[in-house]
Amino acid sequence: MNKPLLATLFILIAAPTWAKQPVATGYGGAVATISDPASQAAMRILNAGGNAIDAAVAAAATLGVTDPFSCGVGGGGFMLIYSAKDKKVITIDSRETAPAYFSPQVFQKNGKEMEWDDAVPTGISVGIPGTVRGWHEALSRYGSMDLARVLQPAIAVAETGFKVSPNFYRINQLNEAKFARFSSTSALYLQDGKALPIGSTFRNPDLAATYRSLGKGGVKAFYEGPLAAQIVQTVNTPPVVNGVSVLTGQMTLNDLKDYEARLRQPIHSTYRGLDLYGMAMPSSGGIAIAEALNILEGFDLKSMPRDQVEHLYLEAARLAFADRNAYVADGEYTDVPKSGLLSKAYASERAKLIDLKQTHGKVAAGDPFLYQDDPSHPLRPKAALATEPAHTTHLTVSDKQGNIVAYTFTIEDWGGSGIVVPGKGFLLNNEMTDFEFSSPHPNVPEAGKRPRSSMSPTLAFKNGKPVFSIGSPGGSTIITTVLQTIVNHIDQGMPLGEALAAPRLSQRNGDKTEVETLLKFVGSPQAKALEQYGHQWQEKDEIGAANGLQFNPDGSTTAVSEPLRHGGGSAIVQRK
Ligand code: GLU
Repeated sequence: MNKPLLATLFILIAAPTWAKQPVATGYGGAVATISDPASQAAMRILNAGGNAIDAAVAAAATLGVTDPFSCGVGGGGFMLIYSAKDKKVITIDSRETAPAYFSPQVFQKNGKEMEWDDAVPTGISVGIPGTVRGWHEALSRYGSMDLARVLQPAIAVAETGFKVSPNFYRINQLNEAKFARFSSTSALYLQDGKALPIGSTFRNPDLAATYRSLGKGGVKAFYEGPLAAQIVQTVNTPPVVNGVSVLTGQMTLNDLKDYEARLRQPIHSTYRGLDLYGMAMPSSGGIAIAEALNILEGFDLKSMPRDQVEHLYLEAARLAFADRNAYVADGEYTDVPKSGLLSKAYASERAKLIDLKQTHGKVAAGDPFLYQDDPSHPLRPKAALATEPAHTTHLTVSDKQGNIVAYTFTIEDWGGSGIVVPGKGFLLNNEMTDFEFSSPHPNVPEAGKRPRSSMSPTLAFKNGKPVFSIGSPGGSTIITTVLQTIVNHIDQGMPLGEALAAPRLSQRNGDKTEVETLLKFVGSPQAKALEQYGHQWQEKDEIGAANGLQFNPDGSTTAVSEPLRHGGGSAIVQRK
């Protein structure tokens, strides 16, 4: 038997399984994801000698099987890698990109913006998927195993299948109408037009075969050849059921062939002695989190009661969001005032707008251009806030060498465009609806451009040593989830697990602050205390199932996932 095959058998059979838990502390490598099979896949790769990058791709591929409505090879994402050897943070941008036919009018009909819901389940919403190219870049530059090897655990899960959980069912059911439009999607995820029942076994042999072909043919097997042709055909002629017609895309084989993942400089900022690294444009996450923290840094939060800290957190998020909505987009297409938005002097100006006792209500964007390295800037775009839903997944892995990965990836809406590539077992994204639908705005659709994102994988260091990693799904609530978790952890002294499990409050410069029914926030003493500041609530079921790692002073690592959200996540450490 050849060596790789032997190794694979070891990974799949001889390895132990771990009981699912949301928090685990130990030594060596650690992983936290929202899916137990995905965390197990990462741990098997670590135990077989892989590094954090290998294990992260293994977990991501498995999430593509177990959480297919949030992520997969039909989408894109952002990966932060800390390379222990190079003492350096690298970011890989595998964001979906607009095909060459795109123009600022692509989401308009008779000169008017299309409804967001109408734009999603169409061929137009599908951007060129970046995930496979991202995995390729990560593995070939920083990994130690090849794609074929790290895909093995995911292939096993896709073939063996798993029991449909209440959470899988909940999301599938919410998408019944969208999925029913497409024959390939109904065939995979519906049974007589209804979501697969809880407890039934879901297998995805088509996805297993797709993963096998990627293992064999590498990145080219996705971006060139028969699979590429099939993706193009699916986007341009979606497999609709009788009686349904949808807008079709005009993607080309060259769009796929020319797709590039970008290695970008991370956003670097500081907060109370920590060095924070976040995702740069086209994500707005790194910049918005840094701006909000810069605003908060001017307040002595440690001396304040919890309700006042949370009031200030909400107001800082509001101010940062006003700027993010107005100015941040793909930096290759628009002059984003990045240095102004990140400047501490600008943050102190913004902080002056905060009333310690009363919410400000909606605020206007500021003028970061005055704080730019080069302040002679012509562009003052309008602020706008298109619909931004809340899905996606985040995972994080570390290894015994000290490498760390924080990776958020997505197909945008739950179920993406709703279009499964026939016979291939994966859904195509609707990431193009993250663009604004009308100009002038920096985030309008343009050929080759990447839509603004909120995904915020984040790494924190103190004196050059890792302190924590954090990230979340949840559309634009990702930014507030990561920000609030940092404030809970750093300013309120909560261990990372507690900081992440606490009720989320998401203020994105709206009239009301979003909170969760799952955590029964409304009516709680915490809610009542904040109502004294004038805050009002808007409930949704839950906000962002986050995952993180805390690197403890004694050399151990605590992996933290969700106790409740998204059905609960899975944290595993290599050695107790
Ligand atoms: N499209 C979103 C973004 O890039 C992620 C999807 C979501 O979380 O809803 O920010």
